[in-house]
Amino acid sequence: MNKRIVIAVDGPAGSGKSSVCKRVAADLGLQYIDSGAIYRAITWFFMDKYGDPDKVENPVLSLRDVTFSQVFDSSGKSRTFVNDKDVSLLIREESVAKNISIFSENSEVRDFVNAMLRSWASKESIIMDGRDIGTVVFPDADLKIYLDASVDVRTERRVKEYSDLGKNVDENYIRNQIIQRDDKDKSRQLAPLVKAWDAVYIDTSQLSFEEVVEKIKELIKRL
Ligand code: C5P
Repeated sequence: MNKRIVIAVDGPAGSGKSSVCKRVAADLGLQYIDSGAIYRAITWFFMDKYGDPDKVENPVLSLRDVTFSQVFDSSGKSRTFVNDKDVSLLIREESVAKNISIFSENSEVRDFVNAMLRSWASKESIIMDGRDIGTVVFPDADLKIYLDASVDVRTERRVKEYSDLGKNVDENYIRNQIIQRDDKDKSRQLAPLVKAWDAVYIDTSQLSFEEVVEKIKELIKRL
């Protein structure tokens, strides 16, 4: 691809954003940036440092001394680091997901994350996924996609992700976590999860992984 392009992919938990984006990025030689992993890494950092993340006062002050980074390799793997520690697996714990809203609903934390995401994206063609990428982080993205799927399908996918990691999880627990997190993400005042008016809506419930990847690659090739 000759010109630098920015692709924004938003959608609820378990809609397949990250696996699809990683494959599209690897196939088309784009950089992949996982914005949710940064909110997770921030939450993990405060849980690790203070135990109770509810007690953190003025989080953005502490964040200024922390280095966050992400590495996406050509095999399609994305890793997230906090001060050079690989936290990629640690940030996937349900306990982290449960506490994220403490930080993702803080406007200063969001400004801090957005500045970081924009600077990472300033040098090359990227595909970034999250909740507010097409609405807030890159309102002028070259292509915006909103990936969706039914709660049942998203629950199944999350359960499979955990079982692939060798973890047994209760399906009802995961379903409730997904519903609660969606509610929080969609109803919050700051940067809620909402389809940008100019985003292409793709319901992945009845589509295979390969079909979703092909659809998005087609859209990108038309740019
Ligand atoms: O994408 P993932 O499920 O890893 O994101 C974890 C959480 O981080 C989301 O439920 C949401 O609360 C928050 N998030 C956000 N804005 C983004 C990406 C994630 O608020 N752009």
